Amino acid sequence: GAVERLARVDRVIFDKTGTLTLGQLRITAVEAAPGWEADEALAVAAALESVSEHPIARAFGMAHPAGPPTDVHVAPGRGVEGNVIGRRWRLGKPDWAAALAGKAPPDLRGDDTAVCLADQDSVRAVFRLADRLRGGAREELQKLRQLGLATEVASGDAVEAVAPMAAAAGAGHWQGGMTPEDKLALLRARQQAGETVVMVGDGVNDAPVLAGADVSVAMAGGTPLAQTSADMVLLGESLAPLVEGILQARRALRIVRQN
Ligand code: ADP
Ligand code: MG
Repeated sequence: GAVERLARVDRVIFDKTGTLTLGQLRITAVEAAPGWEADEALAVAAALESVSEHPIARAFGMAHPAGPPTDVHVAPGRGVEGNVIGRRWRLGKPDWAAALAGKAPPDLRGDDTAVCLADQDSVRAVFRLADRLRGGAREELQKLRQLGLATEVASGDAVEAVAPMAAAAGAGHWQGGMTPEDKLALLRARQQAGETVVMVGDGVNDAPVLAGADVSVAMAGGTPLAQTSADMVLLGESLAPLVEGILQARRALRIVRQN
C-alpha cells in the first residue's frame, strides 16, 4: 500500500506554484502597450480569470471585471482564452498568449512570473506576479536529503522564475516551461530508472503527474479533486508532515518486518 511505497521513496518531485511557493501571488507591475490603460487590461484579465482556479487567477480578484466572459475556456498549463468586451483574448504563458496575435512573445526579463494579455492583433499587457517560498521549505527539503532522498522541482512557469525559488529551497534539480504532459513524462522517466517517486502538487496543472506517482501528496490550498484522489493531504501551510509521514512509514515497515 501507500505506506510501504512511502517508506521506500527515492525521490520527491515538487510542483512550484502553490506547492513549493505559497501560491498567494501579488501583481507587482502592469505594463500596458501604447494606447492601453493598466486598469483596462486588469479589467479584461479579471473577467477571464473568473473561470480559472489557478493561484494566478486569485491575484486578479481585486480588479473589477470588464464584463462576463463568453466562449471562455481554461487551457491547462497555459492560461485562459475567451471573449470579453467584444474581442477574443488570451491571458497566460507569454508564447501561448502572443500566438493568438500570430506574434512572438515580448522579451521578458526578471525573476517574477510574467503573464501576457493578447488579443488577435497584439500583446496588450504584461503582468508581473510575485510569490513567496513556503515557510520552512528549505529546512524540509534538507531533511529529505538527509534521509537520502533526491529532491526536484517541476514547473510550468518560465525557468527564470523557477530557478531562484528552487535554489532558495535547495532542490537538487529543477525544470521550467513544462506542460502537464512534460511533468508526467519526467515522472515516468524517474520510475523507469527504478525509483519510487512522491509527487507533491496542488492539482492545478499537475493532476496527471499526481495520478501517476507512487505516492501523491496534495496541498490543502489546491483543487478538491487533487485532495480526494491523493494518498496524503497536507492540511496546514507546512511541508513538515510530509517528512514526518516518510519517517513514520519507515518505522511502520520496520515493525512489520520484525513481526
Ligand atoms: P506550476 O507548475 O509552477 O505550478 P502551472 O503549470 O500551473 O505552474 O502554470 C504554468 C504557467 O501557465 C504559469 O506560469 C502561467 O504562465 C500560465 N498559466 C496557467 N494558468 C494560468 C491562468 N489561469 N492565468 C494566467 N496564466 C496561467
Ligand atoms: Mg502549480
